[in-house]
Amino acid sequence: MSTPTSLGQSVVQKELSGQAKNNGVAANTTQTQPLWLLAEVTYRCPLQCAFCYNPADFDKHTQNELSTEQWIQTLRDARKMGAIQLGISGGEPLLRDDIEEIVIEAKKLGYYSNLITSGVGLTEKRIQAFKDGGLDHIQLSMHDITEEINNFITNTKTFKLKQKVAAMIKGHGYPMVLNVVLHRYNIGHLKEIMEMAEALGADYLELANTQYYGWSLVNRDQLMPLKEQVDEAERITKEFREKANSKMKIFFVVPDYFGDRPKKCMNGWGEVFMIVAANGDVLPCHSARVLPNIEFPNVREHGLEYAWKESPAFNRYRGDDWMKEPCRSCSEKENDLGGCRCQAFLLSGDAESADPVCSLSPNHHLIEQAIEDSQNPILSEKPIIFRTNEKSKEYGEGNKERIEGFHAVP
Ligand code: SF4
Ligand code: SF4
Repeated sequence: MSTPTSLGQSVVQKELSGQAKNNGVAANTTQTQPLWLLAEVTYRCPLQCAFCYNPADFDKHTQNELSTEQWIQTLRDARKMGAIQLGISGGEPLLRDDIEEIVIEAKKLGYYSNLITSGVGLTEKRIQAFKDGGLDHIQLSMHDITEEINNFITNTKTFKLKQKVAAMIKGHGYPMVLNVVLHRYNIGHLKEIMEMAEALGADYLELANTQYYGWSLVNRDQLMPLKEQVDEAERITKEFREKANSKMKIFFVVPDYFGDRPKKCMNGWGEVFMIVAANGDVLPCHSARVLPNIEFPNVREHGLEYAWKESPAFNRYRGDDWMKEPCRSCSEKENDLGGCRCQAFLLSGDAESADPVCSLSPNHHLIEQAIEDSQNPILSEKPIIFRTNEKSKEYGEGNKERIEGFHAVP
């Protein structure tokens, strides 16, 4: 799969949400209704991306995945609560052999469904089954125009396969949606990446600057580009977008660290987005489990309705009662709700503080320090730690390599 933008709602998915409303689904919209269900059906993945946003200790959640029946029940329960968009993600969802069954059920229930994949495991037989089963949309991650960088950053030989899979998706009449995570190894190839996407017939291209959570936080010094490179990338994107003959829609997601205000993470904690992780934990965002002293509900023990409406975890950061200064009395708080709770905790150790991305935050110097560190050759030239099961096991067992400076546990 690809790393979602700002660990939040994919811009491409947002673009397509209008289609879901026309998908024969009646949505009873209220302020806090889980319109989006993201099913992270497995944390297993054949790729080992250096920027993967999965938890560094994902390995401990790979042994107790929900069964097919439990996923189907989860889909039914979420639909009853009003969810209309379903993302099937991971890890690599295609490592499970029941995605076809999940797709058929999603269609029956009236979801607009989106498979988010690295492409590994997508065969002609499976894509035909997805088409027949009613899957609406496939989002494929790409990494670079060069085989060298693709294979390096994923620590696998997947370049040719991705090109083949892109053609297969197009061949089956799906809208071609490509996601490229940008970092210092590929940001200089942006124009060529956009040309490649156009040549592959992409309808949508999401250029997602790396956000620093999970494995990308572990490798932050190694991955972060220069501010000038990000500015240049934005300029090139704008120029390409304005090309009169380009029909491809391009979304450029600005990295948090180079802005001076945070994003409204997940459009608000427990507002519209609900994630069910591989082991059944119900989360308001991908990395919420890094937060201390919160027990997240699990679908094996509690229903989704309890998780969304009643659980202390989902109510913890709704509204603004939890806010401290400077957010509490800030005139901009409606715009960003103080930013991301996980980023606040990961960097400052205080989950209730303003996201350090904000220039008004007393912890903003941590972002400035991170940018400086990423340009320090002693730090940035240390080898990348790839997302392997072995490394994940070590993090789960308390290894603090590369993360001792953060408050993430592990
Ligand atoms: S390793 Fe790569 S493909 Fe696999 S889940 Fe992580 S980002 Fe997605
Ligand atoms: S102080 Fe808080 S509410 Fe105000 S802009 Fe910064 S993060 Fe947002």
